[in-house]
Amino acid sequence: MWTGEPVLYHSRLSAALNLKLLDPRDAIAAAEEAYRQGRAPLAAVEGFVRQLLGWREYVRGVYWLFMPDYARCNALQATRPLPRFYWTGETDLNCLREVIGQTLALGFAHHIQRLMVTGLFALLLGVRPQAVHEWYLAVYVDAVEWVELPNVLGMSQYADGGIMASKPYVATGKYIQRMSNYCSACRYDPGQATGERACPFTTLYWDFLMRHEERLATSPRMRMQLKNLARLSTERKQALRAAAAAWSARLAG
Ligand SMILES: Cc1cc2nc3c(=O)[nH]c(=O)nc-3n(C[C@H](O)[C@H](O)[C@H](O)COP(=O)(O)OP(=O)(O)OC[C@H]3O[C@@H](n4cnc5c(N)ncnc54)[C@H](O)[C@@H]3O)c2cc1C
Ligand code: SF4
Repeated sequence: MWTGEPVLYHSRLSAALNLKLLDPRDAIAAAEEAYRQGRAPLAAVEGFVRQLLGWREYVRGVYWLFMPDYARCNALQATRPLPRFYWTGETDLNCLREVIGQTLALGFAHHIQRLMVTGLFALLLGVRPQAVHEWYLAVYVDAVEWVELPNVLGMSQYADGGIMASKPYVATGKYIQRMSNYCSACRYDPGQATGERACPFTTLYWDFLMRHEERLATSPRMRMQLKNLARLSTERKQALRAAAAAWSARLAG
């Protein structure tokens, strides 16, 4: 993720595919042909084909198998409202300002921006998944319900309790720092979880683990993250809870 680079190396084919202007078989055949003619490396072609033939079809299967109940799922019982800045981009959290600003201007954000910035923040905060779904459906040019809904409720919000993804995609602000240049222009520090400059992603990450510790303990893939949580003292946990509550109160206003 890079400031001023909304597309990077992504294909921007999703809207055309979802509107049936482009057949996914044709896109796959063209990519394969490019590989055979030596115009595209195998790893890139494999990745592209896997997104279309793998993820896109899998998502379609989840939708048709589990609807209409799927649309109501809320495994983590999240009830908070979506912060108002999702509709304006006006926030001092630089990563969210960048991704939401780009989204509102272009109707496009690439996968990691959707999953690990806008999606992650809503998940950590505990926003009602259906409110998150309504936002994604409204703002992206490629948003068609059968593909948007499982990506939002399942992959990004873990509201289906693990049908689509085997664990919630949760991380601290350090992940965003590693994957982007957003943090260098932000007033918050992704390495701090409490205090004046604490990054809310990092604060809310620890609070999320504490809130859902019991449920997450059943997932072997969460073991390392919960082990790190267990290392924290009671006082530290109390401080994190208080900092998270302050953020929730601020964002609810
Ligand atoms: C929270 C969230 C919401 C999303 N909402 C939508 C949506 O409304 N509509 C939509 O088409 N995609 C959605 N996606 C999936 C993915 O982010 C977009 O398909 C992708 O960013 C579109 O850009 P692109 O065409 O440049 O994709 P590329 O990165 O170039 O990938 C090529 C193609 O692979 C397919 N693809 C890749 N990942 C997925 C996936 N997870 N699910 C389905 N197809 C995939 C798309 O058709 C895409 O055009 C969402 C992902 C998340 C995490
Ligand atoms: S410090 Fe936190 S809020 Fe700021 S850009 Fe980095 S991850 Fe986002």
